[in-house]
Amino acid sequence: MNESFSDVAAGLAAVRARMVAAARAAGRPVGDVTLVAVSKTHPEAAVRAAVAGGQMVFGENRVQEAAGKFAGVRVAAPGVRLHLIGGLQTNKADDAVRIADVIESLDRPKLADAIAAAADRAGRLPDLLVQVNIGDEAQKSGVPLDAADGFIRGCRARFGEKLRGLMCIPPAGEDPAPYFRALAAMGEAHGLAWLSMGMSGDFETAIRLGATHVRVGSAIFGARAKT
Ligand SMILES: *Cc1c(COP(=O)(O)O)cnc(C)c1O
Repeated sequence: MNESFSDVAAGLAAVRARMVAAARAAGRPVGDVTLVAVSKTHPEAAVRAAVAGGQMVFGENRVQEAAGKFAGVRVAAPGVRLHLIGGLQTNKADDAVRIADVIESLDRPKLADAIAAAADRAGRLPDLLVQVNIGDEAQKSGVPLDAADGFIRGCRARFGEKLRGLMCIPPAGEDPAPYFRALAAMGEAHGLAWLSMGMSGDFETAIRLGATHVRVGSAIFGARAKT
């Protein structure tokens, strides 16, 4: 792992520089792309090092891990924003709605029901992204392609403006560009502004193809321990 202050600061600086270059090459304002620093598996100290380096938006894939890690961080840095990016079980919806600023993994009607009910109880509704199984892969989370349009329309009707956009993880080991293009087209067809796409290995391609949010972990924090 790679979580000393200077390593995290250097990782952040390198990723930011690559984002600037990618945005410039695409003729896009750099400010149009938000870096979501994915801190899953890395300790609170790594998050604090990133905050010290000016990073305020983080991504985590497990609700319990995020709750423990960010409670103290948020006291110290109230402006920190947390995106939940992992597959979400309905029985975690209450905690998710309480701690998340953005839930990026809304991918099925039962989860939409659970989030709506949890939001009623909590009196707060995070921003929401529909995760699309853009490569139509078996065993992968995300709404299947043939159900995506209907599900997105239903979420828009139910959640209104809180449905901000779409998220995807393209198939591993393939050129991600066609998948990023397909997600961008789907977002445009539905009039949705946010596109969360691109990770450490492909965020420049994603920025070229319209990403508004890139989710970058290992290029900032170093390799994750195998779990
Ligand atoms: C872990 C993860 C990332 C970050 O992956 P890196 O390759 O480390 O940048 C992005 N998105 C999701 C959904 C993840 O689970």
